[in-house]
Amino acid sequence: MEQSQVVVVGSANADLVLDIDHRPAPGETILASDVVTTPGGKGANQAVAAGKVGGRVAFLGCVGDDDHGRLLRGSLEGAGVDATGLRTVAAPTGTAIISVTPDGENSIMVSPGANRHVTPAMLTGLQDVWASAAVVVLQLEIPMESVAAVAAGATGRVVLNAAPAASLPAEVLAVADPLVVNESEAEFLLAEAGAADGATSPDGEGAPGGDSLAARLLALGPRSVILTLGAAGSVIVERAPDGGARPPVWVPARRVAATDTTGAGDAFVGALAVRLAAGASLTEAVELATAVAAVAVTRRGASTSSPTLVEVEAMFGAVV
Ligand code: ADP
Repeated sequence: MEQSQVVVVGSANADLVLDIDHRPAPGETILASDVVTTPGGKGANQAVAAGKVGGRVAFLGCVGDDDHGRLLRGSLEGAGVDATGLRTVAAPTGTAIISVTPDGENSIMVSPGANRHVTPAMLTGLQDVWASAAVVVLQLEIPMESVAAVAAGATGRVVLNAAPAASLPAEVLAVADPLVVNESEAEFLLAEAGAADGATSPDGEGAPGGDSLAARLLALGPRSVILTLGAAGSVIVERAPDGGARPPVWVPARRVAATDTTGAGDAFVGALAVRLAAGASLTEAVELATAVAAVAVTRRGASTSSPTLVEVEAMFGAVV
């Protein structure tokens, strides 16, 4: 089999989405819309996004022997992702129950299920797939010791999306290039490190905040940082040769009419990884990631919303 350039190690979930008109109070029962079941999980979403923009991508993870597992396998394969490292285990496929109120706010409950079986032992068995990949992509919906094992063994570039927010061992943070986080994840990591004072995002001119937050994150140890700021874009901070921080680079978001921002970050990370594996600079890779995420927010769904390169170019013309 041809070596994949991008290997995503992570979670695969079925997203069960329910529209509700208000959130139920304790003890209350409400009626919801028909349930809509779509492929999700940060890892699978990122792999699908990477596959759709044309990367040679493999996904390593676990699902159950059930319809949700088959849905996920089909979604990965449909995006051109090599899913031979997607193991079927004796646990239900991970499930996210997502309720959405008319104001667009969502509440999410995640049952990890099969994702708990993405263990260091399983990943050791798949070492030939990830250890020498140009880019390995990690998030935090699988056991932390598995994230740590891959971070320690990867010889390629490690893209670490520290989501959902969780404490990170220093040795995992140290190899992240980049660490990709949104504002709330950034604040969590800084609070953990006792460095959050004054780190809330400023609303200055030019870059709409985030510069100091991103620089403080770099001081926690990663090799580079991308802080995503939703409709305000993202901020990149890289290391200078002396180990300090280069001046932050702000990449504004593309202006679009957002319909559903679920999965924007995952589309962003998937596209980013593909461009980095092709040898692009961090800024060039973020340009593509920004365009891909912008198309994704114009459509509903977490991974079903992720566009192909042709669709991105149809909306914005050629991107880097
Ligand atoms: P997450 O989904 O992880 O919370 P963000 O909301 O920060 O991440 O979004 C990630 C990226 O997606 C942003 O940096 C931006 O480029 C793009 N994006 C998010 N929301 C929008 C939007 N409303 N319009 C255009 N681009 C968006």
